[in-house]
Amino acid sequence: MSDNYKIVLDEKELPTAWFNIMPELPTPLAPPLNPATGQPVTPDELKVIFPDSLIAQEMSAETWIEIPAPVRDVYKLWRPSPLYRARNLEKALKTPARIYYKNEGVSPAGSHKPNTAVAQAYYNKEAGIKRLATETGAGQWGSALSFATSLFGLTCTVYMVKVSYNQKPYRKILMQVWGGEVFPSPTDRTNAGRAILAKNPDSNGSLGIAISEAVEDAATHEDTNYALGSVLNHVLLHQTVIGLETKKQLELAGDKADVLVGCVGGGSNFSGLCIPFASDKIKGKSKVDIICVEPTSCPTLTKGMYQYDFGDTAGLTPLMLMHTLGHTFEPPGIHAGGLRYHGDAPLLCNLVKSGVIAAKAYPQNPVFKAAVLFARTEGIVPAPETSHAIRGAIDEAIKCRETGEEKCIVFCFSGHGHFDMAAYNDYLDGSLVDYEYPEDKILEALKDLPKFPTGI
Ligand SMILES: *Cc1c(COP(=O)(O)O)cnc(C)c1O
Repeated sequence: MSDNYKIVLDEKELPTAWFNIMPELPTPLAPPLNPATGQPVTPDELKVIFPDSLIAQEMSAETWIEIPAPVRDVYKLWRPSPLYRARNLEKALKTPARIYYKNEGVSPAGSHKPNTAVAQAYYNKEAGIKRLATETGAGQWGSALSFATSLFGLTCTVYMVKVSYNQKPYRKILMQVWGGEVFPSPTDRTNAGRAILAKNPDSNGSLGIAISEAVEDAATHEDTNYALGSVLNHVLLHQTVIGLETKKQLELAGDKADVLVGCVGGGSNFSGLCIPFASDKIKGKSKVDIICVEPTSCPTLTKGMYQYDFGDTAGLTPLMLMHTLGHTFEPPGIHAGGLRYHGDAPLLCNLVKSGVIAAKAYPQNPVFKAAVLFARTEGIVPAPETSHAIRGAIDEAIKCRETGEEKCIVFCFSGHGHFDMAAYNDYLDGSLVDYEYPEDKILEALKDLPKFPTGI
């Protein structure tokens, strides 16, 4: 086994195709439904907001989808990303486990999100689109898309969840440096935003509301499309570069994953790491444990219902079969803004439902405790979102200390936390509160949803 701290791949080893797990799912993915008819959404209905190429990927039955050369060229600015062996963290934990992390924080925007932002900007440019509209929570996706659109000569309009806009002014400035225009959502620019403000002028906003605004902007402008940073099949597809590289790197290190861990907001970084490994598990070639981690304040997979729901608050999107807290969910203002979405990727939910993937939830304080231990041993300050994965990986390593098992634990380091100092400040001065989202609020939010058969 390699004694390296860092396992790097040559640029030539950058994957040439993304991996699509759809044809291999133990239970087929339920289609998105048109809420007006209850019928599966047709490609034509998606054309107002997405280019044909991405719609085809959304529904593709091909296992491998070639990465276009211009996309690979941009990837090469930071990919292949390094896989680290967290030797200092292992020592601090006195664990016999081997802990690796795939560092997606080395991208220009500081997270995994450019993996799909670059692809989406490229395909929209090819389709003749001039502007992309999107939402952003913590600002990671908005900055990734602003970066990507600037490279392909498109403009970018970002609806940023108001609580994050106020908490994270530097993310907003970063987007502006890359040429993006940024508005605190809810805004008075869209019907969806105006409706929320009429009901609650002090609304903190939510990802669901911001999605409604961006979708409406795209649907009402001919030259404008919509881009989503997580949840959709094509986003998870683009993120599989993470797992494909990690597989090669583990081979180089002479190791094999026993446990995979990642944080889940909409499910893209986690799925990007895990999907290539989940394929082996489905085929009976591996017994790897795959664990996703979410906050107890937004417990979509651990407490949500598995049923059809809208992807946004206003109910403009198709209905998707997923774990959901109800599309009217307005989460408390916790710091891991990127994990505050009411639903999760239908593809990930399908794999959780069929038992390929397990889910757990943590409150904020133990998550930040893990983040600080990581920073003090491995040096890198993680994003609050990423710190959920670190907490999960550390707890797996502590279990190994107790049982003496020498497991190989791999987690996705989805991004750095250089723009999250206010959150660290709150943790260090003891003012972070743990919050468990109450079950009755979930049931209340779900009671008005139209019911459709779930297929399982
Ligand atoms: C956006 C974000 C997440 C959550 O999104 P997923 O789609 O679940 O990956 C996690 N970590 C970081 C650093 C992010 O920016």
